[in-house]
Amino acid sequence: MQRIYLDYAATTPTDPNVVQAMLPYFHDAFGNPSAIYSYGQEAKNALEEARGKVARLIGARDEEIIFTSGGTEADNFALKGAAYANQKKGNHIITSAIEHHAVLESCKFLGKMGYKITYLPVDKYGLVDPDSVKKAITDKTILISVMHANNEIGTIQPISEIGKIAKEAGILFHSDAVQTAGHIPVNVNELGVDLLSMSGHKLYGPKGVGVLYTRKGSKLTPFMHGGGQERGRRASTENVPGIVGLGQAAELAGQDLEGETQRLIGLRDKLISGIVQKVDRTHLNGHPVKRLPNNVNISVEFVEGESMCLNMDIVGICASTGSACSSGSLEASHVLLAIGLEHVQAHGSLRFTLGKWTTEEEVEKVLEILPRIIGKLRAMSPLTKNLSPG
Ligand SMILES: *Cc1c(COP(=O)(O)O)cnc(C)c1O
Repeated sequence: MQRIYLDYAATTPTDPNVVQAMLPYFHDAFGNPSAIYSYGQEAKNALEEARGKVARLIGARDEEIIFTSGGTEADNFALKGAAYANQKKGNHIITSAIEHHAVLESCKFLGKMGYKITYLPVDKYGLVDPDSVKKAITDKTILISVMHANNEIGTIQPISEIGKIAKEAGILFHSDAVQTAGHIPVNVNELGVDLLSMSGHKLYGPKGVGVLYTRKGSKLTPFMHGGGQERGRRASTENVPGIVGLGQAAELAGQDLEGETQRLIGLRDKLISGIVQKVDRTHLNGHPVKRLPNNVNISVEFVEGESMCLNMDIVGICASTGSACSSGSLEASHVLLAIGLEHVQAHGSLRFTLGKWTTEEEVEKVLEILPRIIGKLRAMSPLTKNLSPG
């Protein structure tokens, strides 16, 4: 069976070019970058070359790039590092209700440690109002953290507007750009961010490696203690193959950003309009335009998200849902609830995220199969009993 993978927001396959670039650093050039002999220096050079490639993708300076074990660590580092470093200045953090768990759980932890957290609401499209950020600022505010684009509904936030507000107030500004770096233009100066998170495996690089961009002069307390790697900001022997892979992925991503964006928008909009036209009582979640080029998130009334996902899996289609029954909890997505969906609508959501290897034929296949699956599930659903025909 030919698999149709439409869950690129969860993880991407590592680009074969990236794998090729990584291979020498497992065995031939395996040295420890901290060693002074040439094996070590070879690895060190590769590390620094990768740092330059990542820096160029986001308009940063090389020394502002800190490699981490992933997007989650980058988010934890930004939140906790800024909180600890600015303890004397204040204890208030502003974030949004729709952040990734890596940010929300870090905030929850800091809340337990005595920090005050403001979770800004979003509108029905998932947008944070920059004015609400401004209004939430107090003389104790030390950090603002708002994601660049949301991983579930794809909404792209007005980051540069929020950046201006943060700068005026002299407050550190962090953005989780895991879903945008390498996918849409990300420039740390245009966005006005001081801290920015990236992850390798969301841009066709390997898993287990990420980046925290840290603007020169931003105060962060390291939370990995040990050797002096990454200029003393993040101890542990560097994941050289992973970092080389991330560098290669960053370089590749920068090469055809605009062309790939236009291609994906075409496929995305074909999938959205196809589903909405073919299946009644469905609607798009997230913003119609301020949206990631690869994100489709649809609520389907009277059907459970995981039933749709499992039925699609049987025919080889990989998609995800904002309903978490399958993972053992009955919680609906915090993002879908934050944009005002009822629990039952949130449980009936489907997310397709497209990528580099998504083809028009694949989209057409989904448009052929999904309406049938929904029809079958609705016919069995007790929820549709009261639904008048047509
Ligand atoms: C995937 C993701 C993360 C976590 O990145 P990992 O590298 O998997 O730890 C953080 N934020 C967002 C928005 C993500 O999509």
